Amino acid sequence: MAKYVYCFGGGKAEGKAEMKDLLGGKGANLAEMCNLGLPVPPGFSISTEVCQYFYEHGRQYPPEMQPQIDESLARLEQEMGKKFGDPDNPLLVSVRSGAAVSMPGMMDTVLNLGLNDKSVQGLVAMTGNERFAWDAYRRLVNMFGNVVLGLGHEAFEHEMDKLKKKKKAKIDTDLDAAALKELVAIYKNVIKTKAKREFPQEPREQLTLAIDAVFGSWNNPRAIKYREINRIRGLLGTAVNVQTMVFGNLGEDSGTGVCFTRDPSTGENVFYGEYLMNAQGEDVVAGIRTPQPISALNEQNPAIYEELESYRRKLEQHYRDMQDIEFTIENGRLFILQTRKGKRTAAAAVKNAVDMVSEKMIDEQEAVLRIDPYQMEQLLHDRFDPKAKKQKIAKGLPASPGAATGQVVFNAKDAEAMVEKEKSAKVILVRIETSPEDIGGMHVAQGILTARGGMTSHAAVVGRGMGKCCVVGVSALSIDYKARKFTVDGITVKQGQWISLDGTAGEVYLGQVPTIPPSVSGDLATLLGWADANRKLRVRTNADTPGDAKVARGYNAEGIGLCRTEHMFFAPDRIYWMRRMIMAGVTADKKQPEAKTKRKADESKQGPTEEERRAAITLQERKAALAKLLPYQRKDFIGIFKAMDGLAVTIRLLDPPLHEFLPQDDATQKAMAAQMQKDGLDISVKDIRAKVASLHELNPMLGLRGCRLGITMPEVSEMQAQAIMEAACECQKKGIKVFPEIMVPLVGTVMEMKLQYDLIKETAEKVIEKKGVKVEYKIGTMIEIPRAALVADEIAAIAEFFSFGTNDLTQMGFGYSRDDVGTFLPTYISKGILPDDPFQRLDQGGIGQLIKIGVEKGRKTRPDLKVGICGEHGGDPDSVVFCHKVGMNYVSCSPFRVPVARLAAAQAAIKETRTLKVVGEA
Ligand code: ADP
Ligand code: MG
Ligand code: MG
Repeated sequence: MAKYVYCFGGGKAEGKAEMKDLLGGKGANLAEMCNLGLPVPPGFSISTEVCQYFYEHGRQYPPEMQPQIDESLARLEQEMGKKFGDPDNPLLVSVRSGAAVSMPGMMDTVLNLGLNDKSVQGLVAMTGNERFAWDAYRRLVNMFGNVVLGLGHEAFEHEMDKLKKKKKAKIDTDLDAAALKELVAIYKNVIKTKAKREFPQEPREQLTLAIDAVFGSWNNPRAIKYREINRIRGLLGTAVNVQTMVFGNLGEDSGTGVCFTRDPSTGENVFYGEYLMNAQGEDVVAGIRTPQPISALNEQNPAIYEELESYRRKLEQHYRDMQDIEFTIENGRLFILQTRKGKRTAAAAVKNAVDMVSEKMIDEQEAVLRIDPYQMEQLLHDRFDPKAKKQKIAKGLPASPGAATGQVVFNAKDAEAMVEKEKSAKVILVRIETSPEDIGGMHVAQGILTARGGMTSHAAVVGRGMGKCCVVGVSALSIDYKARKFTVDGITVKQGQWISLDGTAGEVYLGQVPTIPPSVSGDLATLLGWADANRKLRVRTNADTPGDAKVARGYNAEGIGLCRTEHMFFAPDRIYWMRRMIMAGVTADKKQPEAKTKRKADESKQGPTEEERRAAITLQERKAALAKLLPYQRKDFIGIFKAMDGLAVTIRLLDPPLHEFLPQDDATQKAMAAQMQKDGLDISVKDIRAKVASLHELNPMLGLRGCRLGITMPEVSEMQAQAIMEAACECQKKGIKVFPEIMVPLVGTVMEMKLQYDLIKETAEKVIEKKGVKVEYKIGTMIEIPRAALVADEIAAIAEFFSFGTNDLTQMGFGYSRDDVGTFLPTYISKGILPDDPFQRLDQGGIGQLIKIGVEKGRKTRPDLKVGICGEHGGDPDSVVFCHKVGMNYVSCSPFRVPVARLAAAQAAIKETRTLKVVGEA
């Protein structure tokens, strides 16, 4: 018979940590802790297979499930000596969700199940605490209405506030037993009027409905959104944990808290956390009362603190990673309710990994594997310029580090709308506190600021998870949602005004504070050093300027994989000559308007035909313009070679279609004509417009560009090759080591490669001979047209290296114009047609196959062919792993992603040689 229910309790469990796919992270770890001998309230987990079955069978359960639940419940009753639904001695349970991957706050927990009008009296009798019993009951009715019946939380909150006013109570705990009893009646009435049903008195019915709700919540919109944002896929579903209740709200020797075995924000090895006495469940996280730091527990109850501290050590040693632990103290007795791998900032992740190596908990390779390269990107974000002037307006808790600047918005919907409208919009979400409904808004915001909540509040936990700068608990902040403004210290800030947040210091500034780029040092440098020692792939950078090249070298880039030359033609003096080059030949007709008749007259005589004459003038004018451009190019290349002394530099010849260099607007066209006329050229605005029109293409992406330019106008490639080689020779002479790699773009047939190769080779050799210096150089190509990948064996006979241009390869392989995917890609992703944006993450199944074929065929002809990638994908961790697998020599990416690629490359290499099981994830 299929097993769907797994018990834990009494020092042993049917599950264990490795079973998290089946039991969810929470269930698997409860079982593991139970086996470790920790005080875990007993219970049972209903497996994720049930969730899968539930959705596959129109919300029905497998028939074997119910008897297994009955049996487990009976065992629980026996162990606890209580009975579910017993009016005198009731067993109370919580129903908790939990998937294999932790999704904080995404799915809802119901506490105190089993209470009803009769058993609440039993609870009074059992505990001798009337207030407590009614407090537990009112929480149940509230949570049941909210989670199970889907009523808004506000309905209950509103009634609570009304009653508090009536009773002149300041906080919840000021309400006495009688008031809470009144509240239960009011809440039941809320359910009756809003949900059109009675609050179920039958505990079995409560349990069944609650289990239903948890399985149902797997597909609620916010859970779906969370999985989408965090790319959580391929899970069976959630498990349901039914667990005996322990009570933190029994009085002043009871309490509840959350702690981390190390500081999740900085990574420091200190016990970190918060607790509240006389509180239950989510009270700590909800930010209703301000919790106390865990260190205070040492003074309040040293014995309990010592016990908790011992579990901290035990759990961390066992899981060999930082843990996030939930505990409850019931009448001075400690219970552990959850442990999981603690979510942490990227900085904390790096510090933890490096520290744990020196503590001999893990080795260097494991440390490298511990860091999520996507998360590491956070460390490479800008921070505030320490020299900048700042106007500090408030201070709160530094919940999640970073520097954020943006316009203030007061709700998640507004934030999403603003970014939807204007992609580059920067917003800071300001809330009294956040809740799971705000996920979308938090995701698009630069930073999050809340007036309430502690270091473990929703905003803090989610902010850290997202790597979003977050400042919480700024109690001086008074927020007016209606008027869309906040005031602090007499300063009013309205929606749309700019503020800046320092998540590391917990400070709030008025206006936009300037930022500076990050640096790789300390623990991060140590960790990346270990990564470098383990990787096989080289990591280069895409850089067009000496400045970019220097930044990338600072991140240990091992060369330039793509230096685009088109940007070098845009400065005012350069673009002029570029345009003269393009306009070459336009004056040919005007110079000798009588030419036609003349030629007819002396037809018998030998001489150039009209066409030849025109071509000669065009060529002469083009060459003259290119001669002006050459020194600029040479100078640029010298700068880049200097910056990359000792490293290879791949330079791509001119790639974009020429129309991109001509002005499209009237004013600039006029100015261009005027300047050319001033230089004695007979070129009018009309001529320019005619040129623009003649260069117009229906599909420029597939038109006259790349090597097609170099083939129709060989002088352009010649000039560039000459400039590159002259720069190389000059540098070499000065003792700078240069390794130029001249790259021909957009090759699709071997003859294209051959023509360009011969031309470049001849030019290069001429320069070398003239300068009398030896320079090692290579001539190769980009593989970015699908056909080129398929005939790579032919192309490799000529090309001395390959660099996969995966942007164009994806564009042409899919037949999607990269500039136009916005209209359908989101639909494709939401319908599951594509898993990701293939321009960000390499499509390994399709485009990746082209790459594989290209590498294999290329190396068949030329076994030592150097192969790299220079598309956006070169900095995407998953794609880097793929590049490693197909045996590339290097990846090339934008400067700030170089460290990310180094890490991803190392992980790919390490994972090939060892599989490391990580227990206790989630
Ligand atoms: P989440 O996944 O959102 O953390 P949990 O299932 O952990 O949700 O539960 C929410 C809160 O209720 C936590 O503070 C947890 O410790 C508390 N809780 C859950 N089950 C019990 C229980 N049986 N006894 C006491 N507190 C519980
Ligand atoms: Mg929890
Ligand atoms: Mg390209």
